[in-house]
This record gives sequence, structure tokens and C-alpha cells, in this order.
Amino acid sequence: MAGGGKEYEFAIVGGGLLGSAIAWGLARLGKRVAILDEGDRATRASRGNFALVWVQSKGLGMPEYAGWTIRGSNGYSAFADEIERETGIPISFERPGGFHLALSERELEARALQLKRLHNQPGIVGYETKILGHAEIKKMLPDIGPDVVGGSYCPLDGHVNSQQLLRAFHKGLAQKGAHYLPSHRVESIAHKAGMFVLGTPAGEVRAGRIVLAAGNANATLAPLVGLKAPMKPERGQIIVTERVQPFLRHPVVTIRQTDEGSVMIGDSKEEGARDTDMTMGVNAMMAERAARMFPKLASLNVVRMWTAIRVMTEDGFPIYEQSTSFPGAFVACCHSGVTLAANHALVIAPMIAAGALDEDVVGAFSARRFDVRKSA
Ligand SMILES: Cc1cc2nc3c(=O)[nH]c(=O)nc-3n(C[C@H](O)[C@H](O)[C@H](O)COP(=O)(O)OP(=O)(O)OC[C@H]3O[C@@H](n4cnc5c(N)ncnc54)[C@H](O)[C@@H]3O)c2cc1C
Repeated sequence: MAGGGKEYEFAIVGGGLLGSAIAWGLARLGKRVAILDEGDRATRASRGNFALVWVQSKGLGMPEYAGWTIRGSNGYSAFADEIERETGIPISFERPGGFHLALSERELEARALQLKRLHNQPGIVGYETKILGHAEIKKMLPDIGPDVVGGSYCPLDGHVNSQQLLRAFHKGLAQKGAHYLPSHRVESIAHKAGMFVLGTPAGEVRAGRIVLAAGNANATLAPLVGLKAPMKPERGQIIVTERVQPFLRHPVVTIRQTDEGSVMIGDSKEEGARDTDMTMGVNAMMAERAARMFPKLASLNVVRMWTAIRVMTEDGFPIYEQSTSFPGAFVACCHSGVTLAANHALVIAPMIAAGALDEDVVGAFSARRFDVRKSA
């Protein structure tokens, strides 16, 4: 069954990490699923991310987000085992604990203060984060340079091969009989005779329930079914070096060595940037800081650089919501779709399959919070 006029139980709009995770979770429960996606040249955060499965510093301003992130991190290993077993694709998930490094006393103080504010929030789930000095960090990361004055460490931090993860989702979906429909950019959504009708240049697709997981495009799609997803896209740049012998046992928030041996460097955040042009000054600054953290990086060849646009809601926290005016229409979007992949596949998808999001689990992530802020 491809494209025009076909019917499914569930249509997922967007085939990035979030849509694919939810679709995989639904197909795992035996649901008849299609993913409608754009073509090869679409902008996708899922193709350009840094691949951390990261906990430390998540949740300042919304303590529930810290708990949600920890749940995702704790569930990753079992989820990785399942998808690897099913598809034969290794996704290389590891949780060795991760670092945020500081290159001056001022940076270290700012980091310590940020973590203190995070952990002092009422209702925050307790988890270990330590501030360490240069000598203690050197025991775990022997190649740090003298400019590293200290940093924070969290044993729950890890990383994964996110490109292999996306591939595994799609292979798993095909194995479960789900349909991937590329070049099906959804341009209209109607609701007729109890079915959602999605209009695309390749024809109509009908489904009993829909999930809008189109990244930043959710901002325009969600209002078509009485939902909202206020977004503020943010550009990030990444540098990749040649492959070298393993030297970095723990990922750092801005530097990690992949399972294949390359070193990825990336920590830029440019709010409001919607194109994928590269800013060389930003790359130069990232490279300079990385070489101060690990001097051996200065002699490595750079083999690739890219930019990608983060899927970022207005306040940076996820949105999961079902429409009250069009029940059966859901919206899901978040930054950190790598970190939250296990949650999307194994927690959100079963709720969608059951027809309702559990308020106790994800009520904090309703877009209703934006109304409260505006009227306050
Ligand atoms: C530089 C960078 C670094 C990052 N680092 C990390 C990290 O270390 N850890 C982490 O957890 N997360 C990280 N992220 C975030 C993570 O990549 C995203 O949260 C995740 O990829 C979002 O997936 P998505 O499916 O929501 O969006 P996308 O990957 O953007 O996918 C959206 C999909 O919707 C499709 N689409 C859009 N409009 C339509 C339409 N009208 N009809 C049909 N389809 C449509 C698009 O073609 C696309 O395939 C990073 C992101 C960036 C950019």
C-alpha cells in the first residue's frame, strides 16, 4: 500500500527520530502504521545531531523534565538491546558517565551555580552530579589539557550512534509491516467521517489517528487540528575529525569520540537561525576550545563539518498533547529526541495506542503551559 487514498490506523507525520520512535512503538504493539515524510533534501535535526543521551543540567525551569530525562536514560539499555536484536543494527549505546568541562574559574562557578539552582527546585528528582577539580577529572580523562580547571560529572550521561538508531527504527518498522511514505509532505489536514485525511502532493492518506511529529514544522501543522506548538528553531554546528585510537572514555557535552573512532566537536547554539549556512567564526571558536580541553585534538585532521537546525519549542521543553477539538490527533516535539528515544517508543507510543496521554506522566508537557504564561 503506497500513498494516495490508502487507509491506516495511525499516520505519523515526520520520519525523524521522534516520529520514527513513536511509529516503531505503535508497530511493536501490532498497530497498522504509516509514516508520511518529506523527500531526501528536507532539513532534519535527526540527521545532524551530536548523539548524546544526556541527563545533567536538564530540567532547570521545569523539574518534571529532569525526571522524564532520567526515565529515558534508565530505559535506554533495554530498549537498545531490543532494537539491536530485532534489526541486527548495532546502535552502540553506552552510559559511562559524562562531563561538562570549564576553562576558567568563572565558567566553573557559573556551572556549579546552575546545577545548584537545578537541584534546589521543589519537586526535582534527586540524582548525582559532582563538581570536580582538574586532578580528579584527569584520573578519568587523562588527556585533558592544563587549561581545564574543573567541571561537572554525572554518572547517568551517555551516548549512542544516532544515525544507526534512525536506520534501526526504519528497518524495524519495515520488518513490522509499517509503511514509510517519502515525498508525502502533508499540506492539509481534514477530518471527515471519523477519519483524518492528510493531503500531500503524492495523494491523500487517511488514518483513524494522527501524530504530528514534523519537528519545527509542527508550528504550522498543529493549528490545523486545534493544537499548538510554538517553536523557536536554533542552529547548531558540528566538526568531525579523522578516526583515532580510543582516548576519550567519557563523553563531554561538547566533545565525544564515536564508536567508529572519530571525534565530534559541537556546542554552538544560534537562536533564530533557520538556514543551514555555516558560520566559520563559530566553528573556529568551537575548535579552539576543544583543543584547549584536549590538546591532542589540535593535530587531528577535520574530515567533515555541518550545521543542523534544532527542533526547539519556545521554552525548550517537550510538547506532547492530544487535541480536544479533534480527538485522535496528537502532537509531539522536543529537543533531545536522541536522549528521549526510549521514552517515545516505549512510553508515549503505548499511551497513543490506548487513546490518551497519561496526565500524571506527561501532563507537564502540555502546550497549555504557554497559555498560562501569556495570561500571567
Ligand atoms: C546540532 C544538533 C545537536 C543535537 N544534539 C543532540 C544530542 O546530543 N542529544 C539529543 O538527545 N538530541 C540532540 N539534538 C536534537 C535531536 O536531534 C532532535 O531532538 C531530534 O532529531 C528531533 O527529531 P524530530 O523527528 O522531532 O525532528 P526532525 O529530525 O527535524 O524530523 C522532522 C521530520 O518531519 C518531516 N516533515 C516536516 N514537515 C513535514 C510535513 N509537512 N509533512 C511530512 N513530513 C514533514 C521532515 O522532513 C523530517 O523528516 C541535536 C540537534 C541538533 C540540530
